[in-house]
Amino acid sequence: NMGDMRPIIRQLDDAAINRIAAGEVVERPASAVKELVENAIDAGATRVMVEIADGGKTLVRVTDDGCGIAPEDLPLALSRHATSKIDGSDLLNIHTFGFRGEALPSLGAVGRLTITSRGGGEAAEIKVSGGKLGPVKPAALRAGTVVELRDLFYATPARLKFLRTDRSETQAVSDVVKRLAMAEPAVGFTLRDVSGDGQGRTAFRADPETGDLFDALHGRLSQVLGREFAENALRVEAEREGLRLFGYAALPTYSRGAAVAQYLFVNGRPVRDKLLSGALRGAYQDFLSRDRHPAAALFIDCDPHLVDVNVHPAKSEVRFRDAGIARGLIVSALRHALAEAGHRASTTVAG
Ligand code: ADP
Ligand code: MG
Repeated sequence: NMGDMRPIIRQLDDAAINRIAAGEVVERPASAVKELVENAIDAGATRVMVEIADGGKTLVRVTDDGCGIAPEDLPLALSRHATSKIDGSDLLNIHTFGFRGEALPSLGAVGRLTITSRGGGEAAEIKVSGGKLGPVKPAALRAGTVVELRDLFYATPARLKFLRTDRSETQAVSDVVKRLAMAEPAVGFTLRDVSGDGQGRTAFRADPETGDLFDALHGRLSQVLGREFAENALRVEAEREGLRLFGYAALPTYSRGAAVAQYLFVNGRPVRDKLLSGALRGAYQDFLSRDRHPAAALFIDCDPHLVDVNVHPAKSEVRFRDAGIARGLIVSALRHALAEAGHRASTTVAG
């Protein structure tokens, strides 16, 4: 009787759905840090503090001075697909980091989450663990939001096993903070390791005096990528067919043996895309041998309709409607900047 073998189709319950979605959004502590810092920036924070312990495995805490969440909205912020950042369904027209409403419920499904926030004049906190929401309770907080994630993957030992050493997880967290700090030069960032002796601390200060985009960016790149990069960086600026490119790229003399310091941002969002390394190789081919890699931090701004950031749940990939234009723009702008720098150098030597 075939009827006995027919599988039964069941609807998954919310806890299971959250756990599955969480697996895509939260791979490791660094992904939690990315989501929480992006939320802080979206909330208009001017200062963001990230604290981690044991590579973020036992603790990730992000504190901001942004707009906060009103007590009555706390449970909503933790329910799936609830977001304050998108109006209707225009997924192509996105100006914030977030818009899926997935991060907080996902984090609440894979760790012990506490949100304390002050919004609408009142401060309150809510705890979530294993996807279960606790009650909203009054709390003391002067401003902004504190999101604390403890014991990531405590309920899923299999996932926990896939995490790397505390050192490499800390490295990944630091990389995320650096990328977002480059994307937001007007925001101050602090990263603190509170485990062990609690001495590890990195701070990227924002200079409130600089109104100029290039000055602010240059100052931030100097803090994040180092003074040497900043002193050897060429200013890049170009525009083509609706794409605006700006940023800094290193002189060929300041190059590396590995392509580690190459950063691309699309509409303010840090992205990992093969497009950049290819374009840089093309631009520097007459200036650098193939085993050397130029450092660069480049930003492309364009109409949101010309890119799709929805390729991946972590939004770390983009798809340009025409990748050839983006590549061509980077190559020609860099060749131009390099040629000018070469010209300046040779006239200085001659003079
Ligand atoms: P998304 O960022 O995609 O909207 P999240 O799950 O990350 O989804 O956050 C859900 C909602 O919670 C946000 O839309 C926002 O309204 C609120 N929120 C989250 N973090 C903060 C924060 N640090 N400050 C103010 N509001 C926040
Ligand atoms: Mg978010």
